[in-house]
Amino acid sequence: MQINKNAEKLIRQLNNQGYEAFIVGGCVRDYLLGLTPHDTDICTNALPEQTKKCFEAYRTFDTGIKHGTISVVCGGEVYEITTYRIDGDYSDNRHPDSVSFTRNINEDLQRRDFTVNAMAYNAEYGLVDPYGGKNDLKDKIIRCVGNPDTRFNEDALRILRALRFASVYGFSIEENTSKSIFKNADLLKNIATERVISEFLKLICGKDAVKILDAYRETIAVIIPEITVMFNFNQNNIHHSYDLWQHTLTALGTIEPNPILRMTMLLHDIGKPSVKTTDNSGQSHFQGHQLESKKIADRILHRLRLPSDFINKTLLLIEYHDVRFNGSKKLMKKVMNVLGTDLTKQLLEVEYADISAQSEYQREEKLGYLKTAKTHLNEIIKDNECFKL
Ligand code: ATP
Ligand code: MG
Repeated sequence: MQINKNAEKLIRQLNNQGYEAFIVGGCVRDYLLGLTPHDTDICTNALPEQTKKCFEAYRTFDTGIKHGTISVVCGGEVYEITTYRIDGDYSDNRHPDSVSFTRNINEDLQRRDFTVNAMAYNAEYGLVDPYGGKNDLKDKIIRCVGNPDTRFNEDALRILRALRFASVYGFSIEENTSKSIFKNADLLKNIATERVISEFLKLICGKDAVKILDAYRETIAVIIPEITVMFNFNQNNIHHSYDLWQHTLTALGTIEPNPILRMTMLLHDIGKPSVKTTDNSGQSHFQGHQLESKKIADRILHRLRLPSDFINKTLLLIEYHDVRFNGSKKLMKKVMNVLGTDLTKQLLEVEYADISAQSEYQREEKLGYLKTAKTHLNEIIKDNECFKL
């Protein structure tokens, strides 16, 4: 395995002082998948103070020294070096009550969430894989290390991490792990919002986001109960051939995997059920649903403690979706004045995804208007540039 050169150097430094060290966890998984890991974690049998001593010539930080983690700067990058660790009991479903250090790499791997994340590697020993992670990677399976009920009760965030990995890598979730997710989903209520949202955004940007959001919609509803009104909600008009949840997911799967755009698609029509009216012919209408969706999304996004820039952009896109430019350049100017150029471009992506997830009825016409809107946008940008000159 061709691993990160700095990590190799740090491992050698620990070896020179008589300690054992491996790269571990997500980076090993990513190397085996042929991907470049975005960070490389190291674990060692050296105690934290001993690790620090090994790296006296380096810049170090006591990141989580009580939990065994020292950060070391090498080649301009920060590496976390953590002492092999056994987690104690988890009485709050999120943090171990205590941790203790061990000299045995297998014991450290045992505390890790999934088999594919429970491998270590170094040049001397090769791959250390006591739980069959390499096989599960080959078979594209997410499987808990040990008993799933126990593992999800220790730290319920693992439920969402399972869904995230399945979505991002296009893996399936092993049957017992999956059953346990359904059974223990309510435990997600105990998890700090910051941890939840970071996993959730990765989940909705994964290549299998649609599949996972659909199969585990009741689990997702523990975090965002508001989405349940969309399940099996019949839109009952000529523009839609899917129920509201299927329309939402199809639109979400169509738009590029950008967290703001994906979140916009997830919530863009969430207000429809509350504004529904029925005309004499029995067709449903959803006048004002954009503002209603915005109101509901506002509540959700604040509760999930997203950054204000994320919230503002998402809410504007939801408010202005379905604006129906209808060939009007004046309307485009008005929208651009509020949203600015970049967000207006994204609005057109939202429109495209939305139309693509509607019925065939008037689709060509709608896409035609969208094309004109794009032309108008570009003309206005050009005009403004000339104006600046
Ligand atoms: P990413 O590629 O997104 O960084 P990752 O698997 O590296 O994914 P991290 O959060 O960086 O995820 O965690 C590093 C490693 O620590 C994981 O691969 C896993 O072995 C372990 N780990 C992380 N979170 C948990 C958890 N909640 N429970 C058990 N083990 C965990
Ligand atoms: Mg990582």
